[in-house]
Amino acid sequence: MAAESKQVAVIGLGRFGMALCHELNQHGAEVLAIDINEDLVRKAADHVTQAIVADCSVEDTVSELKLDDYDIAMVAIGDNVNASILTTLILKESGVKQVWVKAKDRYHAKILHKIGADRVVMPETEMGQRIARIMLDTRIFHYLELGSGLAIAEVVVLTTMMGNPLSAHPCCQGQHTHLLA
Ligand code: ATP
Repeated sequence: MAAESKQVAVIGLGRFGMALCHELNQHGAEVLAIDINEDLVRKAADHVTQAIVADCSVEDTVSELKLDDYDIAMVAIGDNVNASILTTLILKESGVKQVWVKAKDRYHAKILHKIGADRVVMPETEMGQRIARIMLDTRIFHYLELGSGLAIAEVVVLTTMMGNPLSAHPCCQGQHTHLLA
């Protein structure tokens, strides 16, 4: 599905949620931004399709917002673990197609998986891993972990790699590699 036709609800407008809204909007997605904090909702309003003040840990609020019409709902509530868990549970029960959740730590992540979160992200941990890979390997420009042992890397192609399968190169040994471009 093209980004332009995706409908995404972002719940929680901290630094992560706000950055996500901006990026999704720039790529043409239809974005609904939600927070209990009026100032943050006002701040997001210029960069999204719709911005609403609402508490998504309340069942009736979630059904009023018809979030089950959206392709993905991102729960970007970090500090308040209770609100994050409750919101995830309500979204799953209300039939939202894909519920993605930001986790504070691995215990939080474990609970989220158990209650059915479709994808759990730990931005600080994932970004730390990405930066370390890029720091240690000057041949890597970008590195993106996709989960389930998959990653996309933008690398310098060495002359020794020309004409050989990627899997033959020492840096790719033990990895399943596919060349995208
Ligand atoms: P950052 O992304 O800046 O690191 P964080 O992970 O620490 O932030 P919080 O500071 O907890 O996350 O921010 C998440 C946002 O979620 C806050 O703006 C908060 O007002 C909002 N929020 C908390 N509970 C709810 C809720 N039940 N419904 C909607 N929004 C909520």
